Amino acid sequence: VFQLSVPLNFLGSVYRELRQSLLDMETLFSLQKVNANIQEKPNAPPLVLSKGGEIKFENVNFGYHPDRPILKNLSLTIPAGKKVAVVGPSGCGKSTLLRLLFRSYDVQGGRILIDDQDIRDVNVDSLRRSIGVVPQDTPLFNDTVEHNIRYGSIDATHEEVVAAAQRARVHDIIQQFPDGYQTKVGERGLMISGGEKQRLAVSRILLKDPPLLFFDEATSALDTHTEQALMVNINGILREKGRTSVFVAHRLRTIFDSDIIIVLNEGKVAEMGTHRELIDRAGVYAELWSAQETRFHDDGTSQNEGEEE
Ligand code: ADP
Ligand code: MG
Repeated sequence: VFQLSVPLNFLGSVYRELRQSLLDMETLFSLQKVNANIQEKPNAPPLVLSKGGEIKFENVNFGYHPDRPILKNLSLTIPAGKKVAVVGPSGCGKSTLLRLLFRSYDVQGGRILIDDQDIRDVNVDSLRRSIGVVPQDTPLFNDTVEHNIRYGSIDATHEEVVAAAQRARVHDIIQQFPDGYQTKVGERGLMISGGEKQRLAVSRILLKDPPLLFFDEATSALDTHTEQALMVNINGILREKGRTSVFVAHRLRTIFDSDIIIVLNEGKVAEMGTHRELIDRAGVYAELWSAQETRFHDDGTSQNEGEEE
């Protein structure tokens, strides 16, 4: 038994190494969004943001499988420079909507326009350079904190990295790490919490500073207090720079001040308007809001409490 355990341990460590390098590759591929599902048109011109980033979905149909449509004849407009929220039940297609904008997939019917250009007609790199996404589950590289923030903005200085981390309210935490900004994180590095990971992802997008910003449940792991403080910073930056942004959120308190709130249900827009308009309408949104507010006031903090205090 003893003799056997040595090679098995050895194989185990080889397996772990192998698995981890595969994970690294997967992370890399998912971040670079290899064009497996889309095709670029030859000589496609770059995207030109002539109107400042207006997004239009026109009768968009999409499903991952032909027999199961996710978005059904969906039409909506996100005006340039506005903050728009997308809410709706889990599985209704919120993340899918962002994936289509990034051209991880192409629509199967209808079209998506950014400043009047069908996104299938423009150079894919130029499209993706214009967009920053904080995905629902942010992959981290097995690399330093600094490199993880710098990803996508290789030319940024250390001071710019620090400034982004400060705005994302993660600088003080990073300074507590054993090697500060040089601390290795990821599978083989320091284990960090979901909330810290989300704030590194926010630092990354603030450093990249793209014209279009998409946040997919980007602050869901934070406690209410930290989330609110972070949103104040993000909102300030977006307003100051006049960026177009889309927030997918579960906690309505993070998005109730949006210029437009879109409620998705069963692949369609169920309701759309400002918080005030949707409350007056007394529909799905109003009901959801009142349920969350009741819980918010009942326990003095919030529903869906994050993992950090
Ligand atoms: P939401 O973000 O609103 O929770 P998603 O857009 O992630 O929902 O997913 C919408 C539906 O599509 C869900 O039913 C989900 O299971 C399905 N789905 C998501 N991604 C894939 C995929 N890559 N392949 C097949 N089905 C998927
Ligand atoms: Mg989602």
